[in-house]
Amino acid sequence: MPLLVVGSVALDSIHTPFGETADALGGSAVYFSVAGSLLSPVKVVGVIGSDYPVGELDRLASRGIDWSGVERADGESFRWKGKYSYDLQSRETLETRLGVFASFRPKLPASWRSTKYLFLGNIDPELQLNVLEQMDDPRLVVCDTMNYWIQGKRADLLALLKRVDILLVNDSEARELSGNWNIHKAGRWILGQGPKRVVIKQGEYGALLIEPNRTFYVPAYPLEEVFDPTGAGDAFAGGFMGYLARVDSTAPEQLRRAMVYGSAMGSFAVEGFGIKGFDQVTFDAVQRRVQAFVDLTHVPSAEQLP
Ligand code: AMP
Repeated sequence: MPLLVVGSVALDSIHTPFGETADALGGSAVYFSVAGSLLSPVKVVGVIGSDYPVGELDRLASRGIDWSGVERADGESFRWKGKYSYDLQSRETLETRLGVFASFRPKLPASWRSTKYLFLGNIDPELQLNVLEQMDDPRLVVCDTMNYWIQGKRADLLALLKRVDILLVNDSEARELSGNWNIHKAGRWILGQGPKRVVIKQGEYGALLIEPNRTFYVPAYPLEEVFDPTGAGDAFAGGFMGYLARVDSTAPEQLRRAMVYGSAMGSFAVEGFGIKGFDQVTFDAVQRRVQAFVDLTHVPSAEQLP
């Protein structure tokens, strides 16, 4: 089953203790698509300016990414600049330049409106709502956001939450949005705003799937070398939704498997700068990494004890 994503198609300038990039391909929709397309075809809605390296997007199309919903507008592309601390645990946004995103009004191609799996990537919640309104009757709507919008567009974000199935955010965003320091309380608060489930990513400590009556946890893959955490969350979302679209199911056990696919994709994202971590990743490599998670977390059942 195909997936539809709306999100930023950006030019990122990233500084980590291991190096830096300037104007590299990035943005929530790009990371999501590169990861998600390893499992299901992805259709992208977004906007780029006249300065965007379109050839690099075209190169990615062969992976099963359809960029035809990305509008080319006159003006500067969305640009984001970030710097990571030495331990890669925290990052500072040095600059966000909305450029053509500031006046963007998404318009879905008619044939895309019936797509069943929709990811509202991290952009202005007003635009996320706008896309959702153009959809016929999606089976699963998952959305992401970030502190920039939690602070600047809280009312729109809360209106959006009433209409999505799953909110997928990182722990600091969940804390900021809910005003609760405790992550489980934060998750509970978010469930009270409308979503049936919430996925809270905790970087190198894994991710939680919080449901009204139970919680599931998946660790992060134990990597010895991490270069650039940018986009790990969007790659997680691509793996999570790409898996659900591939099996065409939102059954509870499939959601748990989707968490593992999300964590696997997040681990590929951080292994290289920008989207480079995905250069050599094939479907078989994804399956091997998912199996490594099974081995990593397998607990022998009580019956096997003496
Ligand atoms: P993540 O590391 O998963 O939070 O995602 C990082 C990506 O989000 C980068 O590629 C940025 O281009 C993009 N990004 C950063 N700030 C914003 C924003 N305010 N709106 C949309 N996308 C953003």
